Amino acid sequence: MKPFIVIAEDEQAVSELLRYNLEAEGYETAIANDGDEAMLLIDERIPDLMLLDWMLPKISGIEICRRVRTRQETANLPIIMLTARTEEADRIRGLETGADDYVTKPFSTNELMARVKAVLRRIRPALMDDRISVGDIQIDRSTHSVTRAGRDIHLGPTEFRLLEYFAQHPGRVFSREQLLDGVWGSDVYVEARTVDVHIGRLRKALMSEGGNNPIRTVRSAGYSLRTD
Ligand code: CA
Repeated sequence: MKPFIVIAEDEQAVSELLRYNLEAEGYETAIANDGDEAMLLIDERIPDLMLLDWMLPKISGIEICRRVRTRQETANLPIIMLTARTEEADRIRGLETGADDYVTKPFSTNELMARVKAVLRRIRPALMDDRISVGDIQIDRSTHSVTRAGRDIHLGPTEFRLLEYFAQHPGRVFSREQLLDGVWGSDVYVEARTVDVHIGRLRKALMSEGGNNPIRTVRSAGYSLRTD
């Protein structure tokens, strides 16, 4: 699954350049032209990282940063601030508000791409590494193979993506709707019941070589992957 990056930037030349380069690097992107759009995009689907312009119309970058940090589900969302300001005081203010990194315009695209990678590696290591381990489950994303306690597990493509998604956020509880958006994509129409079917298949496959049930059902909330 491609990491999803929201580009909140009102200068179209900049946002298009960012989109082009990020997509060439294998990221999925969405552009917000002002602060309202940025908040709407985040509400629809929490990105893996946000590039956030300081001077945005409607809601400023700094205010968005503050709002994102105060909400539990986005408190850890990686944010890189983009700004034309160069003054040290502003830099410090940006980091105090909770940005993870800071890039001053005009920036070199290569440098920004390197910063994106570095921030993702630091904050979401599971997103960037080919191998993810959760408990006794090992996922190799380069070969699309899964083992549990050293034994091969065979998964269909949807079950693999589900497991990968859970493993990127171990322990976190996802509602059916969140799983639909994250695994199937928000523009695909799939019934919530379909999620239960694939969870059932994933569970069965993961338990086929023994071991306890690694997927927790949280009543009226959803599902999560056990971390123990
Ligand atoms: Ca701007």
